[in-house]
Amino acid sequence: MPGPLFGKLAIVTGAGSGIGRAVCKVLARDGARIIAADKNIQTAMETISNFGAESSAVEVDVSSLDSVCKALDTCIKKYKQPPSIVVNSAGITRDCYLLKMEERDYDDVYKVNLKGTFLITQQFAKAMVQYKVSGSIVNISSIAAKLTTIGQANYAASKSGVISFTEVAAKEFGKFNIRVNSILPGYIDTPMVDAVPEHIKEKVSRICPLGRLGQPEEVAEVISFLASKKASYINGASVEVTGGLS
Ligand code: NAP
Repeated sequence: MPGPLFGKLAIVTGAGSGIGRAVCKVLARDGARIIAADKNIQTAMETISNFGAESSAVEVDVSSLDSVCKALDTCIKKYKQPPSIVVNSAGITRDCYLLKMEERDYDDVYKVNLKGTFLITQQFAKAMVQYKVSGSIVNISSIAAKLTTIGQANYAASKSGVISFTEVAAKEFGKFNIRVNSILPGYIDTPMVDAVPEHIKEKVSRICPLGRLGQPEEVAEVISFLASKKASYINGASVEVTGGLS
C-alpha cells in the first residue's frame, strides 16, 4: 500500500546529520521524494544514498538569501515544481555564559536558527503560492525556548523566535492551504548533543519522566505526521517531543 506521503516532494534542511537525516529517512519510508539540503553536500548525499533515483541532495547555507534562492532554483529546475513539504532542521549551538558571549556567537546562532528559518520559509512558500502548491512547513524549535537554561541565551532566544515566527506564518499562509507548525524537541541523541558533557546528559535523563534521551527517529515520526493529511487541521501549533521534560 502506498505510504501517507506517496507522490509528495519534501525538502529537509540540515539533512546531513541528526534529526534532519532521520526526517529524510522517515519521509522517504512514507513515500515522499526527498531533497536533502545541507551546507555540507557530502553528508546530504550520504543521507539519500539508498533512496530512489527521484531523491536528490542540494547544497545550501540557510543563512544566505543568495544560497537559498540558488537551492530553490535547483529544485524547480529538477522537479518542475516546488516541494509541498518543507522541514527546517538546520541549526547550531554556540553555548556560552552571557557576560562572556562573543557577538559572533550570538549572530551565528541567530543567522542559522531564526534567519535561516525565515529565508527558507519565505522563498519556498513564495514558490508554493506561485505554483499553487498547498502543503506543510515544519520548523524545528527546541524545548530550550521554554527551559531557558543558563549558557543558552542566544540559542533559547533564536528558538523562541522560531515559535513566534511559525505562529505568524501559519496565520498568513492559511489562505493558501499551507500549514506551518513547529516542533520542540527535548534532548535528542544527535551529534549536536555529543558536545554536551556526560554528567549533564545523565542529569537530563534523570529528570526526564521517560528516563532517557530521545532518538532522532522519534522526532521524525511526528514531523511525518504533521506533513501528512492526517494533520490537515493542525496549523500554528508547537508540538513538544521531549519525553515529558519541562
Ligand atoms: P546536528 O546533528 O548538528 O545537525 C544539524 C545539521 O545542520 C548539520 O548537518 C549541519 O551541518 C547543518 N547546518 C548547520 N548550519 C547550517 C547552515 N547554515 N545551512 C545549512 N545547514 C546547516 O543537529 P540536530 O541535533 O540534528 O539538530 C537539528 C535541529 O533540531 C536544530 O535546529 C536543533 O537546534 C534542533 N534541536 C535539536 C535538539 C537535540 O537535542 N539534538 C533539541 C532541540 C532542538 P554541519 O554539521 O556541517 O554544521
